[in-house]
Amino acid sequence: MSSILVINAGSSSVKYQLIEPQTEERLASGLVERIGEPEGRLVHRSDDGREEERRVHVADHTAAFAEMVAAFERAGTPVAALGIAAVGHRVVQGGSVFSAPTRIDDLVAAQILELGSLAPLHNPGQHQAIVAARERFPGVPHVAVFDTAFHQTMPQEAYAYAIDSGVAERHGIRRYGFHGTSHQVVSRRAAEFLGRPIESLRQIVLHLGNGASACAVAAGRSIDTSMGFTPLEGLVMGTRGGDLDPGALLHLLREGYAVDELDRLLNHGSGLLGFTGTGDFRDVRAAADAGDDEAALAIAVYAHRVRRYLGAYLVELGGADAIVFTAGVGENNAALRAEICAGLEWFGIRIDGSRNESPDRGARRISADDSRVEVLVVPTDEEAEIARQTRALVG
Ligand code: AMP
Repeated sequence: MSSILVINAGSSSVKYQLIEPQTEERLASGLVERIGEPEGRLVHRSDDGREEERRVHVADHTAAFAEMVAAFERAGTPVAALGIAAVGHRVVQGGSVFSAPTRIDDLVAAQILELGSLAPLHNPGQHQAIVAARERFPGVPHVAVFDTAFHQTMPQEAYAYAIDSGVAERHGIRRYGFHGTSHQVVSRRAAEFLGRPIESLRQIVLHLGNGASACAVAAGRSIDTSMGFTPLEGLVMGTRGGDLDPGALLHLLREGYAVDELDRLLNHGSGLLGFTGTGDFRDVRAAADAGDDEAALAIAVYAHRVRRYLGAYLVELGGADAIVFTAGVGENNAALRAEICAGLEWFGIRIDGSRNESPDRGARRISADDSRVEVLVVPTDEEAEIARQTRALVG
């Protein structure tokens, strides 16, 4: 049996899944976190549901892979016996360099590190994990799958910012878009669900999770998306506020805020959490239902922002065949889906209340039979897509 090891690394964590790419069966999964701290933590899950948790010091990403390999051994499934055919790495920022999954050699690894100047929170940790994984698994191909790659098809008018073009050029300032792997797999699965060729479809994919972004997909290609130069632009998210007048940042800088304070404010102190103190949509919804005004306002701003992008993308696509909800909030919160789609009958968008409330978890239709636009819920699965793209590249 050949399987694909999918790695999703951060600066201080490594998440992994071992996937049988044809069936998408999870053979194992786990996480090593708090790398570099006095006490780290490993969680390893086997396919039979057994779970091991361990507290252990993990010095760096190389040590993290050693811990992962040891966990497979203890579970009675040594990696040597698992037939790992390739390793797929999630990489957040591929810049304008990478528009497709790419086999990693020394040059590609160096380019991923270099792109860290555009994504300092993500690429450096992912590069460390790539170096460590190539050391630990030298005999198999390693493939980088970029969050930005799917959006490289955006036309220039969608990705260019209207600033001094020399400054933009020198500093790589343009819109890249993120969540591309999710938008790609979800738009493909939506087409499969509808039984129609993706080339014939105009789709608006709403990835509403902890991070959130919208994507206009024409014939299977991204033509616009709400995240931009970084994953801060666009929709309201758990701890990020999305669109903000850059003049507000200039004002805060002049008022004495340091760059690191602004970074914390924008990445970790805004969005749902900025309004309510929690970034978890379930808690915000519960508070709003219990009469909390700030929580109600947070949800109202959240839905308003999604609707603004929905309107923009209906125009950009010249109408839509499908609106597709995905990720933690989009897949699970029926009330929010109803709020987003309310009053859009003129556009041919009509939700069926009981379909929307259905406890089903798979891909499903929530629009009414007389809705001109199909409204769907399609679960995302970025890891399975990384495994699929890795396998497609290495054969
Ligand atoms: P993700 O980043 O896709 O894992 O999504 C995480 C977000 O999904 C969090 O804000 C969760 O509160 C939210 N979420 C997960 N399950 C539910 C649910 N049953 N109802 C509402 N929100 C949910």
